[in-house]
Amino acid sequence: MTGIVPEPGPGIEPVHLLAWFDEAERDLPWRKPGVSAWQILVSEFMLQQTPVNRVEPIWLAWVARWPTPSATAAAGSADVLRAWGKLGYPRRAKRLHECAVTVSTEHGDEVPSDVDTLLTLPGVGAYTARAVACFAYQQRVPVVDTNVRRVVSRVMHGCAEAPASARDLDEVAALLPEDATAPRFSAALMELGAIVCTARSPKCGLCPLPECRWRSAGYPAAAAPARRAQRYAGTDRQARGRLLDVLRASITPVTRAQLDVAWLSDPAQRDRALDSLLVDGLVEQTAAGLFALAGEGGQAVSAQAFSQEKRRR
Ligand code: SF4
Repeated sequence: MTGIVPEPGPGIEPVHLLAWFDEAERDLPWRKPGVSAWQILVSEFMLQQTPVNRVEPIWLAWVARWPTPSATAAAGSADVLRAWGKLGYPRRAKRLHECAVTVSTEHGDEVPSDVDTLLTLPGVGAYTARAVACFAYQQRVPVVDTNVRRVVSRVMHGCAEAPASARDLDEVAALLPEDATAPRFSAALMELGAIVCTARSPKCGLCPLPECRWRSAGYPAAAAPARRAQRYAGTDRQARGRLLDVLRASITPVTRAQLDVAWLSDPAQRDRALDSLLVDGLVEQTAAGLFALAGEGGQAVSAQAFSQEKRRR
């Protein structure tokens, strides 16, 4: 998947992968019968860059409270941001809310099933569109996330990791079974990367695939150094999270001083974090100069007006 010329070699046979998945599949709530396409879409929004164990309780509470797109669309922006809790990357919550509005108003409260229409929804990118088409509508479409990319890279190309490539979709599409097991094969491939063929410590002793070029080659190191885990402590992301915590905890707008105490170590960073929350539309400033979650600021002033006012001071 990295520009390496493919040579005949191991593939990923459905028979091995599906038999393993029948035994090893995790009991995840969004995989249960009766879960709607919308609820699967919600899980995919939440699972972007967030581990399953953190998503599970939030997803369960979310779909119990807002089971449909129209129920989600009717919720206030601030309620949605509160329910998102500590999942991180809160712009996703805003985009999910916008997606709910679009699905309820333009698609009869039904998540579209074809990839091209899914791609027109707010917050839905190449991965999410195909994941929904595959997992919610049982379509034979390639679903490529980092887990899938890693397994294919190791098994078929002998490389520890592979960056995203324009060829990924075609390569994974060619692996899919022709019959109705294709969606399950996609889920199994992703699961293998998530729980066995992990980035740092692949459990090859538990791997159902009989051939793997990377293992056969003695696990050669990646050409590029492994990406270091993203630091969180001390980042703008953490500062934004602290400011949002203050606003989530208050049902009325708060003062600037109340926000300031949430991040005392670096005032410039705190200003930057607040600016970005205003620009992202996650926070509003009221006409009286207080701050609130989106939708709770009454007659809020715009982020641009806030910046102008700050420059004047
Ligand atoms: S043999 Fe090891 S490296 Fe190869 S796919 Fe299986 S778990 Fe991954």
